[in-house]
Amino acid sequence: MNRQASAEMSQKLFRAKLLTPEGTGRPAPGSGFWRLYDDGALVIDTNGRIVSVGDYADLAREHSEAEKIDLSDKFIVPGFIDAHVHLPQYPAIGLYGRELLDWLNAYIFPAEKEFTPKVADSLSPIFFDRLLAYGVTTAAIYTSVRADSTWKVFEWAERKGIRAIIGKVMMDRNVPDYLREDTRTSIAESDQLCKAWHGQDDDRLLYAFTPRFAPSCSQELLDKVGALARERGAYVQTHLSENSGEIKWVKQLFPESRNYTDVYARAGLLGPKTLLAHAIHIDQDEQRALLAAEACLVHCPTSNLFLKSGLMHLAELLQMRHRVGLGSDVAGGPTLSPFSLMQAAIYVHNARCLPLANSGFDVTPGLVLYLATLGGARALGLGRTTGSLEPGKDADFVVLDLSSFDQSLANRGEGEVDKLLSRLVFLSDDRNVEQTYVRGRLCYERQQRNSAKR
Ligand SMILES: [Zn+2]
Repeated sequence: MNRQASAEMSQKLFRAKLLTPEGTGRPAPGSGFWRLYDDGALVIDTNGRIVSVGDYADLAREHSEAEKIDLSDKFIVPGFIDAHVHLPQYPAIGLYGRELLDWLNAYIFPAEKEFTPKVADSLSPIFFDRLLAYGVTTAAIYTSVRADSTWKVFEWAERKGIRAIIGKVMMDRNVPDYLREDTRTSIAESDQLCKAWHGQDDDRLLYAFTPRFAPSCSQELLDKVGALARERGAYVQTHLSENSGEIKWVKQLFPESRNYTDVYARAGLLGPKTLLAHAIHIDQDEQRALLAAEACLVHCPTSNLFLKSGLMHLAELLQMRHRVGLGSDVAGGPTLSPFSLMQAAIYVHNARCLPLANSGFDVTPGLVLYLATLGGARALGLGRTTGSLEPGKDADFVVLDLSSFDQSLANRGEGEVDKLLSRLVFLSDDRNVEQTYVRGRLCYERQQRNSAKR
């Protein structure tokens, strides 16, 4: 047997309907960005990288020795990206609160207090299994202030195979005593975690310095995080301009800053590897500063509606060419479902357009699915690795059974892809997710969840 035949034998060819964003362009409203291969093939190698994407008839000939996996009645789409979520808050999911600051004190700080290494050890596999069951292949995750618990989270992410950016929360003021850190300890422990985990498994696991938000961080802490994150080439993740009470508080705490964004700018925290959740109430000055820094804004529409925080100006920010991802913000948001997130992003935009959706730039199903996949990947700086079905990328994908509406409803003919995208976004949930693969590894299969009765 020659070497090429041997290499092909170790390849896998998935026959399915493939739906993927294509090309290097910017997000466009409508489906122009999406390509459907009705009888498609996805070929991956033993390293979990995508070798070929195309029509089955062509690729079956080209890769005749590859192991064939017939999913021809299913869809394969790129894995979803949750760009903002809090793992220790998972036990508080779905608990309604009056507004952000009250809710933090009532539910969230107590939940984070309970996040011991033992709890992290039992909660992390459940949390990662749920994300994978929703088709989420990449997540940017906050833990709590505890470094030992954060270590457990990394170990479970490593074992479960999910792609993750993870960071220990940093807080050295204005929080309950049981969560308040000494500034130097907070920095030292975060740096140790970064050195140990940032870039592990060929960059599948990455570190984010995670000052919770400006009110819980001293100037000294923010300044040191800025310098250290740059030195290590790691991420920074924090919250920005979520709630009006929070913004007033920031003004009092940082009187020398022009606005909330300026607090982070002065600390040297803004850059392409900075993930800023919410960014709801930012003014034009802040928008320009964030754009110039190429910072990633994370839209968390389910959380923003749940906690009455406000309606982000998604369409305007995308038109300005901001990098935007979608985040569940669990437990600020009541669900890990990327489908709910995509729907909510449209509803938030529509609510802002009331009474007439006439802004010219619409937030469509194709656009929110882009933000949940390739757009999110690009916002996180992972656009060359994941987010679409393209040769050379890691094989991060989801197998969806859409037979409930793909066969019974007319999708064929003119506008076929538009109809499909719309129904995928508005009619799907985790029951449609059959399998989830990260870097070619099967990380979730639907039957397993049923048998485990979670
Ligand atoms: Zn959050």
